[in-house]
Amino acid sequence: MKGRSMAQELLGKPVIAALKEDLTRRVESLKGNGVVPTLAIVRVGEREDDLSYERTALKRAEGLGIEVRRFVLAEDAGQDALMDVIAQVNDDSGIHGCLMFRPLPSAYDEEAACEALCPAKDIDGIGRAALAHVFTGRGEGFAPCTAAACLEMLDAHGIDAAGKRVVVVGRSLVVGRPVAMMLLERNATVTVCHSRTEDLERTIREADIVVLATGRARAYGASCFREGQVVLDVGINVDAAGNLCGDADFEAASAAVGEAGAITPVPRGIGGVTTSVLMKHVVEAAEKTVF
Ligand code: NAP
Repeated sequence: MKGRSMAQELLGKPVIAALKEDLTRRVESLKGNGVVPTLAIVRVGEREDDLSYERTALKRAEGLGIEVRRFVLAEDAGQDALMDVIAQVNDDSGIHGCLMFRPLPSAYDEEAACEALCPAKDIDGIGRAALAHVFTGRGEGFAPCTAAACLEMLDAHGIDAAGKRVVVVGRSLVVGRPVAMMLLERNATVTVCHSRTEDLERTIREADIVVLATGRARAYGASCFREGQVVLDVGINVDAAGNLCGDADFEAASAAVGEAGAITPVPRGIGGVTTSVLMKHVVEAAEKTVF
């Protein structure tokens, strides 16, 4: 790697700051109209990654003047208790959006819980109505926040996906598929890869923009990339040494794409932007009740 120039780092911080400036103004305007934008957080159990996301969301909401109401259930509370909480969220006109941590413990019917949430409050795109909107462009609904965060990142750094070859690695409904659809909507030429894709490295190398969303710690190294590529690393993983890392081997990928390319680091990349997008969706949901 010696002698090779490293890629531009696409940091979440300026994106988060720009969103904060915009949302602060919009929250003030809502409050001027007597509405306090309010997020419900529904958590079942005490999973450490849920708690960590919850702490970040609480802090981000507080900084923007968004209220948060938490609904916390014991891991063994049961499906009926969860459905009651979702009904309560749906019926409360003071709540504008809901974040429900997933995966739910295995004893729960997650699909039933996702479908029970009223589409207008589904700010993380977990229900079919929201996904139908993302996939068809028809109807209304919010895209899953992480997928939307990838587009915020590109927009904020002035990267236009139109006409570009995009390779998305990962096909989950939370990240891979929705981000692929959103980039297609932006006129990118999109290829979606997964665990059965043959010659994955070659396919990734052909892309102008790569989205990594597989949850494989540092799995994509120098041989996957070429000069000038933009790499959005959505993965949030913990390596053998206990450090947070992405799906890309950051150092190797950064050297391979070089100074003509760009890459999001993990942490300090997409993850924090996702929380800001969540807040943006709460504000949008609240605005729909007023304006
Ligand atoms: P997921 O549901 O487990 O999906 C993983 C995807 O990766 C699947 O489509 C799988 O393919 C594919 N995959 C697995 N091994 C592969 C391989 N060897 N080669 C190519 N593809 C492979 O995960 P997810 O929920 O989408 O999350 C993906 C990552 O993003 C995780 O690290 C997660 O922590 C992170 N994440 C970050 C945020 C954020 O805010 N930044 C939010 C959500 C998730 P198959 O479909 O063939 O199994």
